[in-house]
Amino acid sequence: MAPEAALLPRLREVLYSGQISEGPPVTEFEQRFGAFVGQPHMLSFYSGTAALHTALLLARAGPGDEVISTAMTAEPTNLAIVHAGARVVWADVDPRNGNLAAAAIAEKITPRTRAIMVVHYGGIPASMAAIRAVAERHGVALIEDAAHALGARYAGLPIGSQSEYTMYSLQAIKHLTTVDGGMLACRNPDDLPRGRRLRWFGMDRAAPRTEVDVAEAGYKYHMNNVNATIGLVQLEYIRPVIARHVANGKYYDAALRGIPGIELCAWDAAAEPSYWFYTVLAERRDELARRLTKLGIGNSLVHKRNDRHSVFAASRCELPGLDRFYDAMLHIPCGWWVGDAEREYIADALRQGW
Ligand SMILES: *Cc1c(COP(=O)(O)O)cnc(C)c1O
Repeated sequence: MAPEAALLPRLREVLYSGQISEGPPVTEFEQRFGAFVGQPHMLSFYSGTAALHTALLLARAGPGDEVISTAMTAEPTNLAIVHAGARVVWADVDPRNGNLAAAAIAEKITPRTRAIMVVHYGGIPASMAAIRAVAERHGVALIEDAAHALGARYAGLPIGSQSEYTMYSLQAIKHLTTVDGGMLACRNPDDLPRGRRLRWFGMDRAAPRTEVDVAEAGYKYHMNNVNATIGLVQLEYIRPVIARHVANGKYYDAALRGIPGIELCAWDAAAEPSYWFYTVLAERRDELARRLTKLGIGNSLVHKRNDRHSVFAASRCELPGLDRFYDAMLHIPCGWWVGDAEREYIADALRQGW
């Protein structure tokens, strides 16, 4: 959270303003967030999951359609596809970083493919040049789940400024939090009016309530002024937060290189990760995890591969790249709360072996 002295007066003002639902602070937050990520066409939501669901509806992905996605992610990425009524089709990941591989996506394209859902896992940008080429060749929309990738860049541009749709989560543990919230960057401004209706019961909030016609069932997905005000203040303090994630990540990139039994993730030369967490690929991973826990070092798999959930049973298929990544991955802390002494302690622990 931003410093109390900056946040609390503005929060108090909005809480007692008599206007706590969606109003001017929400619009201002959309504008400022859009400026930060380089995509002015921005829609806010009460969660990232709501933003993803709406992106799928805007892409017209519904019953009878397929959406190609990754199993190496948080569940909401793929549950949103189920909520939209489309079928999840797994493509395999690059075992060097857990991100969808362009060639694996190409193999899964069918006449029913409506969208490709790309996650930048842990903040490492996926190979967007190759993935975009596949999407364009087949005329399929790209949806980026950038929940881990605020501040990441690809080919010199912020993640989210190029695809048809990009979702950012502002949930409690993401780089920037509004307690809960989600943003959807839309490349085409023509998507905005329907997106706004979908997030508020199917109605245009600007029109008199008794004169609007609900033609399409929308949702109760909008962001409120309280969360938007938190977001406006958070944005003023976000650069050093992201910078510390990146500095810690780069420290590990150098300090952990060449340690026997550890392979570091690899990515495109054009990619600049946001290092939401730091992933090592370890031999005898579970033993390393136990050793780190014993030394008081946080470590975890964070996510269960989604293809092992029974809700996605109908999508099961061979994913050898994911098998390799999932059996070796271990995530260690690299966020803003990790100081110089802590990161050195963590690197030393890994150097000592397990
Ligand atoms: C956090 C997260 C989401 C969902 O965000 P919410 O804001 O919690 O709804 C989606 N995808 C990934 C990869 C996430 O980590």
